[in-house]
Amino acid sequence: TDAMPSNFIYDAVRADVEQGRRGGRVQTRFPPEPNGYLHIGHAKAIVVDFGVAADFGGICVLRLDDTNPETEESSFVDGIISDIEWLGYEPADVRYASDYFDQLYRWAEELIEKGLAYVDDQDGEAISAGRGGYGKRGINSPFRDRPVDENLALFRRMKDGEYADGSRVLRAKIDMNHENMQLRDPIMYRIRRVPHHRTGDTWSIYPTYDWAHGQSDAIEGVTHSLCTLEFESHRPLYDWFLTKLAIPDAPRQYEFARLELTHTVTSKRRLAKLVMDGLVDGWDDPRMPTLRGLRRRGYPPVAIRSFCREVGTTRTNSRQSIEALESYVRRELNATAQRRMAVLKPLKLRITNWPTDASGAPVVEHFELANNPERPEDGTRLVPFSGELWIEQDDFQEVPPPKYFRLSPGREVRLRGAYFVTATDVVKDDDGAIVEVLATHDPETKGGNAPDNRRVKSTMHWVSAAHAQDAKVFLYDRLFSAEAPGERTGEALDDLNPNSREEVAGCKVEGALADVRPGEVVQFERLGYFAADLDHPMLFHRTVGLRDEWAA
Ligand code: ATP
Ligand code: MG
Ligand code: MG
Repeated sequence: TDAMPSNFIYDAVRADVEQGRRGGRVQTRFPPEPNGYLHIGHAKAIVVDFGVAADFGGICVLRLDDTNPETEESSFVDGIISDIEWLGYEPADVRYASDYFDQLYRWAEELIEKGLAYVDDQDGEAISAGRGGYGKRGINSPFRDRPVDENLALFRRMKDGEYADGSRVLRAKIDMNHENMQLRDPIMYRIRRVPHHRTGDTWSIYPTYDWAHGQSDAIEGVTHSLCTLEFESHRPLYDWFLTKLAIPDAPRQYEFARLELTHTVTSKRRLAKLVMDGLVDGWDDPRMPTLRGLRRRGYPPVAIRSFCREVGTTRTNSRQSIEALESYVRRELNATAQRRMAVLKPLKLRITNWPTDASGAPVVEHFELANNPERPEDGTRLVPFSGELWIEQDDFQEVPPPKYFRLSPGREVRLRGAYFVTATDVVKDDDGAIVEVLATHDPETKGGNAPDNRRVKSTMHWVSAAHAQDAKVFLYDRLFSAEAPGERTGEALDDLNPNSREEVAGCKVEGALADVRPGEVVQFERLGYFAADLDHPMLFHRTVGLRDEWAA
């Protein structure tokens, strides 16, 4: 139903479809490496990959790019699949680069036979030294002109596990003086005699990204291989392999800018380090920009999708403000979240003129409050009110500073949806700390409005002390204090905010909060949106404030 985005990728795909290129089909893939969980940057790629396919009536396949056995695990595979589903997408198929190891191997032999690949016995250091650099000539490897038969024999022995890790590689024979470094005889295979999470001990050699990627695309029938800008310089190599293998209807690669956010790191390696070093509680810590972290934090998937779509797809790298993402989250939650009252840092308010019933117990009244004023169909609930209430400590000042309009001695305020109350006195403990505020209520203001239309300057939330439930909340600040983590020192972790989480125990909340579903996000009136923890009842994570509190 959304209008198609207008950007260079859509323009290119539309032109291909109109001209019937690659059969006029559209097939994309999302190709994560299963060496960590997905983050907000991947969400951008997912939205682009799945979105383009859907908008042109095509399909998008999930391909696990599992060519580095040391760092990959099947638990990450499962996590990636469930995160994509949570974000709201269903892959047409789930494939693995490792499904294609046989075919890739046969194609490698084909290139050797064509004189387009050779086994190099140099070590990694010698190979990168030989590559030279930009504006500097490369040097041919002494093994570059090996005869085809020798290359084939050596390559087969590499495959059979006869050589030590790192002792030889297979390289494409392109041009050691090419102005694009990617084409200075790139590596196609390296020896890694380690078990793979799917192929076990079958292979002793593993293909590189560059060798595996375009060929995997071709095998699957991908038409448009969408990736991020850092692969732009790899595109000539992507095309070189497909051309030399004479693959018909070959896929084409298109690059777009990575999504980066202020105060955020989107590098699996760095995110993994936060987890390993115990600086966060795991990949699903609500401060993490991982999809599982954002889920636990209460970010609605639709807000993430809209944000990724609407920030646009360009070819210019830039950092989006995290406040922009939060505004999508807030807009969605404003429309959908139930309103509840919760007191995070409670202070007792006792109404000294509150009536008692025939047995001498304080009367309990119930007020009918809207669950979501933005959505009347969500109905109302009855909230109990009595003579002893919890209010926020912040909402009372014995000596109010200038412009403080909340409760203070002699001041009248509204308790939301209930009564006007006027503070009369305080009760202090032996140390002089206020333990209770005494107040009177005006019975004529029942429901929260005065018949004489007199105004109060402040409306406060409250919870009936006799009916309150205990809860704990986590409040969050930025995980990284710098806008561009790592810009200062080169190491993002240097900008980690040591106070990114505040635990508030002893909160007093409305009884209705005992009924929230795990993961459900509710608005605590005046305080923000809070997500019920997925595992622990009566534990809430603050998703986002009610308004942008970060703006200076
Ligand atoms: P990382 O550096 O975090 O490991 P990666 O690019 O190596 O990221 P992959 O798992 O290989 O991670 O990425 C899968 C796909 O997601 C690739 O097509 C990649 O271009 C894309 N992607 C990764 N990070 C971002 C990002 N920040 N913005 C947009 N797309 C991204
Ligand atoms: Mg990668
Ligand atoms: Mg990576």
